[in-house]
Amino acid sequence: MNSDSKVPDSASPNLAVIALGSNLGDSGQLLHAAMDRLQAFSEKPLRCSSLWQTAPVDCPPGSPAFVNAVVALVPREGETPESLLAELQMLEKEFGRSPKLVFNAPRPLDLDIIAFGNEVRATPSLTLPHPRAHLRRFVLAPLAEVAPDFVLLGQTQTVAELLAVLPSEESARRL
Ligand code: AMP
Repeated sequence: MNSDSKVPDSASPNLAVIALGSNLGDSGQLLHAAMDRLQAFSEKPLRCSSLWQTAPVDCPPGSPAFVNAVVALVPREGETPESLLAELQMLEKEFGRSPKLVFNAPRPLDLDIIAFGNEVRATPSLTLPHPRAHLRRFVLAPLAEVAPDFVLLGQTQTVAELLAVLPSEESARRL
């Protein structure tokens, strides 16, 4: 466990977790630039995972591989899941994301809120915690680097434990 009080405790229920993905353009460079920008949304230094190359899941045939990462942050005072989502969607646009015409079409930047403290949402624009996060290697592998002891709301196992029992069909390689 990290003893630096400036860094969010990986088991803290007050963390917000954001998953980043890209499979269009210079994905590695885009994700590094996006992580730099996400620092503005955190009270404490971000915990950033490595970049991971992962096979596309639920994407159109022939979709390029993804680069994925995860950051854990401590939301700023007054921030809500809705305000954070709006800011993330502006960032996606700024990074060249165009309106969605084809389901899961290649994109330069995808930002998903995996968890926001103990907040729960089930609205047309926001589902929290993210409903498939606990099943996806492209979320759990990077998340296990930054918050292995974190327990996603609704789960009984830690992120590290979920990753250990995940079936191995989805490939993920640390870059
Ligand atoms: P995507 O194609 O993955 O970027 O999906 C974006 C859509 O998912 C947007 O319309 C969001 O409003 C919606 N959405 C629902 N729950 C979440 C979440 N937890 N994080 C990010 N987007 C979400």
